[in-house]
Amino acid sequence: MIAGIETGGTKVICAVADPADPGVLADQTRIDTTTPERTLAAVRDFLAPYAVKGRFDAVGIASFGPVEVDAASPRFGWITSTPKAGWQDTDLIASLGLAPGTPVRLVSDVTGAALGEHRFGAGRGVDDIAYVTVGTGIGAGLVVNGAPFSPRSHPELGHLLVRRHPDDPFPGVCPFHGDCLEGLASGPSVAARWGRPGPELGPLLPQAVEISSYYIAQLLATVTYATGPQRIVAGGGVLKTPGLLEAVRRQLALLVGGALADHPLTDPGSGYVVRPVLGDGSGVRGALSLAVDALQVRARTAATAG
Ligand code: ZN
Repeated sequence: MIAGIETGGTKVICAVADPADPGVLADQTRIDTTTPERTLAAVRDFLAPYAVKGRFDAVGIASFGPVEVDAASPRFGWITSTPKAGWQDTDLIASLGLAPGTPVRLVSDVTGAALGEHRFGAGRGVDDIAYVTVGTGIGAGLVVNGAPFSPRSHPELGHLLVRRHPDDPFPGVCPFHGDCLEGLASGPSVAARWGRPGPELGPLLPQAVEISSYYIAQLLATVTYATGPQRIVAGGGVLKTPGLLEAVRRQLALLVGGALADHPLTDPGSGYVVRPVLGDGSGVRGALSLAVDALQVRARTAATAG
């Protein structure tokens, strides 16, 4: 049995599956994110009955962060300087009480979502995708040649510096930069700029879509220029705003212009930018995929050693 865990700022989703058929969840649960002690105790309680003779074949984790994803680091699996109250310096992996020697792979939450969508959702059929999320925060994760791009750090594109919209005097809400991408286009920035949350924009909606799409398209252009994905999966609560994703596709084509002639992004109807299809299940699907990958790596290593 394998386990997948997605730890998010408001909820933790856990699932277990047979490694031979990771697309079928044997069971799953959703746990509110409260204190690390209570939350991770609930995770242990959920997992325990599924551990065969007390152990899992492998475990994958997709976590909010900042989280140490370098397996060679002594702090591998620690949530470090997170703004989430009470979670600073939490040893996530040790807190799960796994049997010694259990293979564990861990990536950032958005990289996990990218992997889940690649294996089971809107990214199927291609090797390289980017997943971007625009919600309370903004982030991007990559799958390259079918594998999660998870170097010793992980992409932090939320703080991308962007060109200002000429009609937008809003100073931004990022505590570090003010008007970086997250400061100008995240859910909290929308609420602060317009004085009401996204779902209540009413008559302000067209103007809000114009300004937000201008910024979000710059993220997609940067991801395209830098990493050349075959497809971008774009999710998160802000992108559920009516008309916003369509406006982002149009802005992207305008913004990139002739710089990438014949690229599918030049046609807003090409399917280059798509919505996720797994809803809030993409992260836990990605976590299970990490567990499968960990098992395959172990099998190959054993075969080489033998
Ligand atoms: Zn910033």
